[in-house]
Amino acid sequence: MTVLLQMTDVRRVHGRGGASVTALDNIDLVVSAGEFVAVMGPSGSGKSTLLHLAGGLDTPSSGSVGVAGLDIGSLGGSARAALRRKHVGYVFQDFNLLPTLTAGENVALPRELDGVRRHQARRDARTALREVDLADMIDRFPDEMSGGQQQRVAIARALVGDRRLVLADEPTGALDSATGELVLALLRSRADAGSAVVLVTHEARHAAWADRVVFLRDGRMVDTAGRDDAASLLVTQP
Ligand code: ADP
Ligand code: MG
Repeated sequence: MTVLLQMTDVRRVHGRGGASVTALDNIDLVVSAGEFVAVMGPSGSGKSTLLHLAGGLDTPSSGSVGVAGLDIGSLGGSARAALRRKHVGYVFQDFNLLPTLTAGENVALPRELDGVRRHQARRDARTALREVDLADMIDRFPDEMSGGQQQRVAIARALVGDRRLVLADEPTGALDSATGELVLALLRSRADAGSAVVLVTHEARHAAWADRVVFLRDGRMVDTAGRDDAASLLVTQP
């Protein structure tokens, strides 16, 4: 199976000297095409740091992070940005849509930045919006949509084109539970279609959509559970 994310003995220290914080230590994680992994852990345990590293938004202090077979630590800033645009779809907690662009323009933007011609980018955007069941919202502006619709646009933007490593940091935080489940179902079907998905969540019922759950505490991986025993493990975690 194609490995899309490979973290090997990763450590990330923020700051330096007496004020330094070891946000992650000794992290080994492999996620292949078709796999959906949930990351859980208390606030400050290193979940966002892990996702930033996985998405090439940050580089490790030591150890290696491979995205689609390339070691991000060995790449310069612009090569990393290109790798991100090509392979990584990132869903942020607060949507991050540009308010002056329509839904279609927001979703088309990463394609245009990638050098795809405008009409092709627009067509890709329409396809991605159809996938999240928002084809009829293509000309709406973010403030003309509900929170749930905006988050689905953000997901379409993360999925547009053929980006096969999908990273989501508590993407359901601001959503009602029905819309939250819809977002989870979308991520699940994306994994079933061959993407690798990593979801940070604090909700056990969302982690239940994953094939595997990884637990972080103080920057270390303290436990991991497969789909079958995830439910019982979740009960014992705070
Ligand atoms: P989580 O997402 O699980 O809440 P984070 O990855 O955001 O955890 O943070 C892990 C630890 O690293 C925390 O102690 C946090 O304060 C620290 N940290 C995160 N980012 C930075 C930064 N840019 N500078 C200094 N410390 C940071
Ligand atoms: Mg976080």
